Amino acid sequence: MCAAKLPDPGIRPVADVDTGGRETLNPFHSAQMLIGNACRELGLPQAVYEYLKEPARVLIVSIPVRMDNGEIRTFIGYRSQHTDVIGPTKGGVRFHPQVDLDEVKALSMWMTIKCGVLGLPYGGAKGGVVCDPGQLSRRELEALARGYIRAIANMVGPEKDIPAPDVNTNPQVMGWMMDEYSKLRGFNAPGLVTGKPMILGGSAGRAEATGRGVVICAREAMRRLGRSLRGATAAVQGFGNVGSNAARFLYEEGAKVVGISDVRGGVYNPDGIDVYQALEWAREHGTVAGLPGTQPIGSADVLYLPVDVLIPAALENVITLENADRIQARVIVEAANGPTTPEAARRLTQRGIFQVPDILANAGGVTVSYFEWVQNLQNYYWPEEEVLEKLEQMMVNAFNAVYKVHQQRGVSMRRAAYMVAVKRLADAMQARGWI
Ligand code: NAD
Repeated sequence: MCAAKLPDPGIRPVADVDTGGRETLNPFHSAQMLIGNACRELGLPQAVYEYLKEPARVLIVSIPVRMDNGEIRTFIGYRSQHTDVIGPTKGGVRFHPQVDLDEVKALSMWMTIKCGVLGLPYGGAKGGVVCDPGQLSRRELEALARGYIRAIANMVGPEKDIPAPDVNTNPQVMGWMMDEYSKLRGFNAPGLVTGKPMILGGSAGRAEATGRGVVICAREAMRRLGRSLRGATAAVQGFGNVGSNAARFLYEEGAKVVGISDVRGGVYNPDGIDVYQALEWAREHGTVAGLPGTQPIGSADVLYLPVDVLIPAALENVITLENADRIQARVIVEAANGPTTPEAARRLTQRGIFQVPDILANAGGVTVSYFEWVQNLQNYYWPEEEVLEKLEQMMVNAFNAVYKVHQQRGVSMRRAAYMVAVKRLADAMQARGWI
C-alpha cells in the first residue's frame, strides 16, 4: 500500500451555534471528519477515505400503512449501508419523528467504526422510519414494522445486512420483521435480525450486554490508572437498559455507586447506594427519584459528583464546553452515544480526565448481537456463561488494542479507536485489491 499522506479531505464541521451557544455538528459531516482524521493520522492513501466518506448505498422507501380509522398513511423509511468491505452490514432501526437521511447515514458510518473497533466481521448500517410510535396503536406499529421490512427486503438478509433494535424499537418489533421476511422468502430466517425474543433465536445475555461491556471498560480504564473498581466511587446518569445494568454490574464488582439519575430526577448518597434497592424502587415507581436513604439531586447534577468513574448513559451532548470544567470524575466511560461534544472532549483531555469513547464503551450490545447471528447461522445455542466469557474476551481485546494505539501514538482514546477500526478497513481494502 502506498504510504503517501492523505491530503486534507476538506471536510469541516458545520458549526451551527444553537440558542444556548453550544457547538453542534451536522452528524454526517462529523462522521466524515472523524474518519478523515483517522485516515490522515494513519498516513493512508486518499483512496481509503474516498471509499469511506459516503455510504455504499442508501435506500429511501415509502411505507403505506392502513391506519385503525381505515385511511392509508404513508411513512418514509431509510436504510443506509456504509461499507461491505469486511462482511455484511449491521445496525439498528429507529422509529422516531426526527429521523432524517443525514442522521441515518452518519449512524451507519459510526456502526462501521464500532464493529471495526471490536473486530467484528461487519460493516455498518442504520435504518430509520419517520414516525411517532407513541401515536400508533400496536396494530399500526406492527403494520409499519412489516411494511418497512417488505420495502427493504431485497437489500437485507443474513448474508447482506442484519438490522437490530434501536431507539423505539424492541425485540417484539424484531420478531415481526423476522416473521415478515421469513414469509417473503419461504423459509425461517432468524439470522435476518438480532435482538429478537429468545424463543425466536435471541441470544442469552443480549439484554444486559451493553451495560456489561461498559463496566468491563470501566474496570480496564481503572486498571490502567493503577486502581481497581472495588472501592472506587461511581455515578451513573440514566437508569434505563444501559444505565441500570451498568450500575448493577459496578455494584457487583464492589464499586460504591454514590449517584444515579433519570429523566425525573436523581439520588445521592456519599456512603453508597444499594443498587438492588434502586432497581426495585425504579421498577415500582418508574424513577429512582425518592429512593429512601438518599438525598435528592437534579438529573444533570450526577455529572458533577466527585467520583472515580462517571457513566453518562442517557442522552447525547450532555457534556459540552459549557459544563466540562464542572466534571470532577477521574474516568468517563461513555455508555450513551455521543454524550460528550468534541470540544468538551478536548477540554476534558487537557484536564487529565481519561475518557473511554462510546464506540468502544457501548459496543457490548453489537458484540452479543454478532454472537446471536453466529448462533442463528449455526442453529446451535450457547449457554449464557459462554456468551459472557466471549464478550469479556472481545471487550478486553478491543480495549487493549485501542489503549496500545493511544499510548504508542500519543492520541486520545477516541482517535485511537477510530484508527484501530479504519486500519482494519484499509487492510481489507488492500487484501481485496480495492486500493
Ligand atoms: P433507555 O430508554 O432504556 O434509558 C434511557 C435512560 O435515560 C432512562 O432512564 C431515562 O429516564 C434517562 N434520561 C432521559 N433523559 C434524561 C435526562 N435529561 N437526565 C437524566 N436521565 C435521562 O435507553 P438505553 O437503551 O439505556 O440507551 C441509553 C443510551 O445508550 C442511548 O444513548 C443509546 O443510544 C445508547 N446505547 C444503547 C444500547 C443498548 O443496547 N440499549 C447500545 C449502544 C448504545
